[in-house]
Amino acid sequence: MSDKIWLSSPHMGGRELTYIHEAFDANWVAPLGPNVNGFEEDLEKFLNADVQVAALSAGTAALHLALIECEVGYGDEVICQTMTFSASANPIAYQGAIPVFVDSEKDTWNMCPVALKDAIVDRIANGKKPKAIIVVHLYGMPAKMDEILAVAQEFDIPIIEDAAEALGSTYKGKSCGTFGKFGVLSFNGNKIITTSGGGALVCHSKEDKDKAVFLSTQARDDAPHYQHSHIGYNYRMSNICAGVGRGQMEVLASRVEARRAMTNFYVDLFAQHKGVTVFVAPTADFYSNHWLAAITIEPTEAGITREELRLALLEVNIESRPLWKPMHLQPVFEGTPYYGTKVAEELFDKGLCLPSGSNLTDEERERIKVAIQQAFSK
Ligand SMILES: *Cc1c(COP(=O)(O)O)cnc(C)c1O
Repeated sequence: MSDKIWLSSPHMGGRELTYIHEAFDANWVAPLGPNVNGFEEDLEKFLNADVQVAALSAGTAALHLALIECEVGYGDEVICQTMTFSASANPIAYQGAIPVFVDSEKDTWNMCPVALKDAIVDRIANGKKPKAIIVVHLYGMPAKMDEILAVAQEFDIPIIEDAAEALGSTYKGKSCGTFGKFGVLSFNGNKIITTSGGGALVCHSKEDKDKAVFLSTQARDDAPHYQHSHIGYNYRMSNICAGVGRGQMEVLASRVEARRAMTNFYVDLFAQHKGVTVFVAPTADFYSNHWLAAITIEPTEAGITREELRLALLEVNIESRPLWKPMHLQPVFEGTPYYGTKVAEELFDKGLCLPSGSNLTDEERERIKVAIQQAFSK
């Protein structure tokens, strides 16, 4: 059997070990140090939007801290895009708050501004104004931020932008992760760049960043002994992981190019197959890093379902995966409010993510091409 072709695997740039050696040489083997500061500066420069970044242990931790800084507490309601990875929604539950799930629209697969407004109006009519809105840039595709920000502003509700999949994506030329009151990045092993595991909170003031760093380092008061006036967390990024991140930042631009080239590869490949739509930007305003390439399959036209294609690829050791199962359909969130017209459900039924790694070789691309052509000719 040929080697497994993964959906998305880590892709080192080459200089990561240099930064790790520096950390070892100076004995900065701790959740602070020059690599943490350097990585934060690299991210601030890359995002190019007068932001302050706090490097953390995970994107999930960044979402949790964003909710805390938005003062989300027990019994509060938080609006969240239903079509996403569970990590977008879980921190709402950590706070004892209630998620209110909102459907996607068809262009970007992200939060539908119309359903968002319906949800807010109805929740207010029910007696509770949502405390925050979590918008996701799915698979790197920017959400319709102008429309979403307009709704958020109308009701004066802060936006938390889950840009975990969208580092390197822009909307109207501005970096994803810099639109909301807070932005969230992830450097998990499968993301466009990795620190082996890690995340970051993007803030717009020094005060917000300082608070994130304070909370992420056990919320220690300014005293010679250990004194605490707040509940703290152990969420800071380690100086070793940040060293990996600094090496990865040197190659981020080329990783974006390579991922975008993978989506173009599928556009060419599926041009000859009826019933398949490759997920691409609706207009030039939306610049996606195309973290994962994705398609939707219309089985009656294509003569194959997404599940049949997935299994055919699996047979030849190629990983593919259905799109994120909407959160309002997840057993763990059963009974939570949902607003929409089942766009996310239809995407889940018909959608498939395909191998998208920036490290795929020409031979691997050829294997993918042959496997897909064979699946369609059956
Ligand atoms: C990966 C991911 C997260 C979580 O990030 P971690 O660093 O794995 O905790 C959150 N939201 C989305 C949409 C993600 O894809």
